[in-house]
Amino acid sequence: MAKEVQHLRVTYNDIHNLIRRRTPEIAKAYNPDLLIAIGGGGFFPARVMRTFLREETQNKTLQIQAIGLSLYEPVDGTSVEQLGNEVIRTQWLDDSGKMLLGRRNLIVDEVDDTRKTLRYAVSELKRDVEAELLKHPEDKRAKLRAATRFAIFVVHNKKKPKLAEIDPETLYFSGDDVEDVWLDYPWEATNIEEHDRLAAQDRQ
Ligand code: 5GP
Repeated sequence: MAKEVQHLRVTYNDIHNLIRRRTPEIAKAYNPDLLIAIGGGGFFPARVMRTFLREETQNKTLQIQAIGLSLYEPVDGTSVEQLGNEVIRTQWLDDSGKMLLGRRNLIVDEVDDTRKTLRYAVSELKRDVEAELLKHPEDKRAKLRAATRFAIFVVHNKKKPKLAEIDPETLYFSGDDVEDVWLDYPWEATNIEEHDRLAAQDRQ
């Protein structure tokens, strides 16, 4: 019999408070100057994080940019090989390399599961930066490259073997490290009162 997947319901307040608790450390260790939300799960967390970053950084209001990524979904008749676990871009930044160059970029998503999405986001954004660097004089490139940083914030990191790695110079922050359960996010609920009621019940 197939193993039943455990669910964990999280509320808007849970997420808000996880972000509140982690933001001072992120401000201190990294002090981002651009937020890049991975849609759709990264949108709400990025907006909440901006509120707390603003508190930590004397009212600097950060820009939030958005990218859309989704893992290739299996369809009937598709072989495992064909699936290839591809990440698909549904939205990207305009003139991405120029926007990212010289900045401390913080990529925000709701959950790190297999890590494939985050790996794709970091490596592709870095590729755009490398392409942009080619437009600059050779002797300026090393300095510009060093000034361009990437870090990741996820609300939840699942404690499980990951299928992709992120390069070690990319800082990584998570709001909470959780077991390998399925997280039910509030923005996916059609009845938020019921979602919150069940979340409170689960807690007891
Ligand atoms: P990845 O496997 O690349 O780390 O995550 C891919 C995407 O799968 C996530 O951005 C998220 O949209 C979705 N996902 C993975 N685990 C969960 C989960 O526990 N709950 C929900 N709602 N989505 C998840």
